[in-house]
Amino acid sequence: MNILVLNVGSSSLKGRLYGLAAPIPSDPVEPLWDLRADWASRDGPAGIRIRTKSGAPLDREVPVNRLRGEFVPAIETMWRGETRVIEDRSRIDAVGHRVVHGGEKLRDSTLITAEVAEEIDRLRVFAPEHNPIEWSVIEAMEWILGRAVPQVAVFDTAFHSTLPPEAYVYGGPHEWLDKGIRRYGFHGISHQYVSRRAAQLLGKDLKTLRLVTCHLGGGCSLAAVSRGQSVDTTMGFTPLDGLIMNTRSGAVDPGILIHLVKNCHYTGDQLDQLLNRESGLKGISGVSADMRQVLAASAQGNPRARLAFDAFVHRLRALVGSMIASLRGLDALVFTAGIGENSSAVRAAVCSGWEFLGLKLDPEKNADTPTDVDVAANESAVRVLVIHTQEDWEIAVECFRLTNPARWGLEGVDQ
Ligand code: ADP
Repeated sequence: MNILVLNVGSSSLKGRLYGLAAPIPSDPVEPLWDLRADWASRDGPAGIRIRTKSGAPLDREVPVNRLRGEFVPAIETMWRGETRVIEDRSRIDAVGHRVVHGGEKLRDSTLITAEVAEEIDRLRVFAPEHNPIEWSVIEAMEWILGRAVPQVAVFDTAFHSTLPPEAYVYGGPHEWLDKGIRRYGFHGISHQYVSRRAAQLLGKDLKTLRLVTCHLGGGCSLAAVSRGQSVDTTMGFTPLDGLIMNTRSGAVDPGILIHLVKNCHYTGDQLDQLLNRESGLKGISGVSADMRQVLAASAQGNPRARLAFDAFVHRLRALVGSMIASLRGLDALVFTAGIGENSSAVRAAVCSGWEFLGLKLDPEKNADTPTDVDVAANESAVRVLVIHTQEDWEIAVECFRLTNPARWGLEGVDQ
């Protein structure tokens, strides 16, 4: 069956068509069609790139404000033009969506019914950067393919549903819990995939490992994974908590917000804009939200770019420490997503904080921009893995499982 996976991140949209049959292999298969649209900021150009297993490639650049109108034509390239890989739209059997916030009710992957779509929409107040755009993509796909094609939601919050109460309660009034105000955690699909992959690469049973997984992309978060379960994480009630990110502030003293509201007359919308879009690497550096450009400007002596990098690493190291404390030990540190997979400078800077634990990087292996390898020195007491996150594959597998319960079979994958 052909499964289309759609994954909208904070600065990218990925679409992949997988041809799958049971039993599903434990290693990801190559997609038939692969779409990626990237926009580092809301005012720059967006790049659209389509690659196929059999057809020609396609590359386009469009202004970000025209991206929405490009969605349907981009999806149609699966059955139109030189990028055609299927006869027509009826060949798509199911669609899997990454949905960031599932709240307290949606704790596992699920078929999208009218009620589920409504709940995803209701949760937009909790994840204003994500749930609304994901909801629009679900609606658009229903419009393109019709209601008969099953759509599945795979939630980024689900992996963290194992957090113990002391890790998810905030230090506010107890009534917050009744209102759903608690830590949820995000990037769960990625943290789950890389944890399982880490165990595979280390040749160990995941149930014996203590891992800190660092998802460092446009949005950034850490998870403390003990015996395969998330026991702590840095994102919270929303994906704004925790680490400094591309345009998001991460955790700030809540007193700053009280000050801005009381003394500078900020509205909720202005705070949203400030903390979600004007902060982080972009806000500190004044150069770019993109770590590549921050690093380049820093190398040219730009002091604010240098400060942005140093602050990013300082917070990252501090929160890695807090995850290690929650695990009470560490077997491996795992880096993934755009920055984690590609920036040897970030990995080296973070790891330099943990040499006293016997963690030692192999500088040559680390400099190679490796994928799915251990970049720790042979004598290191803690392993350091760089793993290419395969959220889309994880979503495709979930989608197959939910739409084919009778034919479900996974070889070598620990459920
Ligand atoms: P998203 O969170 O939108 O899915 P990605 O995981 O693709 O995004 O990560 C995007 C981030 O990765 C961007 O901030 C970009 O700067 C960063 N990135 C990509 N390549 C590199 C690189 N070679 N060096 C440093 N950062 C990189």
